[in-house]
Amino acid sequence: MHLARFKRLTLGHFPTPLERLDNLSRALGGPDIYIKRDDCTGLATGGNKTRKLEFLVADAVQQGADTLVTQGATQSNHVRQTAAAARRVGMQCYALLERRVINMGDGYEQAGNVLLDDMLKCEYEFRPEGLDMNAEATLLGERLRERGARPYVIPGGGSNAIGALGYANAAEELVYQADAMGLKIDKIVHATGSAGTQAGLVAGLHALSAPIDVIGVSVRARRDAQIANVHRLACETADLIGVKHALGAEQIEAVDDYVGPGYGQPTDEMVDAIALLAAEEGIFLDPVYSGKGMAGMIGLIKNGTLKKGETVVFIHTGGTAALFAYQHLFSRQSAA
Ligand SMILES: *Cc1c(COP(=O)(O)O)cnc(C)c1O
Repeated sequence: MHLARFKRLTLGHFPTPLERLDNLSRALGGPDIYIKRDDCTGLATGGNKTRKLEFLVADAVQQGADTLVTQGATQSNHVRQTAAAARRVGMQCYALLERRVINMGDGYEQAGNVLLDDMLKCEYEFRPEGLDMNAEATLLGERLRERGARPYVIPGGGSNAIGALGYANAAEELVYQADAMGLKIDKIVHATGSAGTQAGLVAGLHALSAPIDVIGVSVRARRDAQIANVHRLACETADLIGVKHALGAEQIEAVDDYVGPGYGQPTDEMVDAIALLAAEEGIFLDPVYSGKGMAGMIGLIKNGTLKKGETVVFIHTGGTAALFAYQHLFSRQSAA
């Protein structure tokens, strides 16, 4: 694997820290838990999309684009980071926001990531739930092209093989950090949605022949569908990197027990996991992704999948800005 073969921009702060969570490890009484701080990538409050955008936006620049077009849910962290990347390279950003989560109360369509989208001068339009959002974004790109723009359309979550290179790179970064610390990693756990993060990690670890299991905690799809999505994209990414040996579906692990009522819908386990990490470590997770990812990790410790004596790395994929669109779940005043 030699990722310098691919065009890449610098948009974030790397490497992100890899730190031991002493208090959380003690509180849970299971494996040694480390955290990879991809919430600290630095781009407009950070998150996992920054790594993907370094490759995607470099491709856009190379193609002579002047406008980034993408889509996501209303509180999309991906849209916010894409909007910030557009500012950095002097492009316009147009986004479609899917009303995938409704009845979340005042502020859901104005606060958190949407507020930051406003400040980043992102032009967004809302769409009802259930459309083919990537097709909608392609249509928007065509509309903008007719008006004389040179659009570059980024799929939801930045999840294609070019974007997933960002997480193949993260796999290499993580293995290098662990080797320097003398740390043997058994498992990686993180929230999985549009699949690019897990696909990139698995492809990167496969290329490095690093025997580390990656467990994706689904925030939306059922287990079988998520495994199929991740596997398809991991194979495409491995191809792009130039890996010769086959990547089997059995190398993909996902759980779907922590989705709750649906994407972006709160669960008690998510609220408890966020409260626990804030109380034990002073670290903020988010309600849509990393909070459910952490709830998943805690569940996997309780059911014995993750054991004492093992070393587990939780990837904090970011999303903290969305906390401010879900204030009612966490505010002590609204609880009182
Ligand atoms: C997008 C996102 C994820 C999921 O990553 P995918 O590559 O879409 O699977 C996880 N956490 C946060 C905070 C995100 O914004």
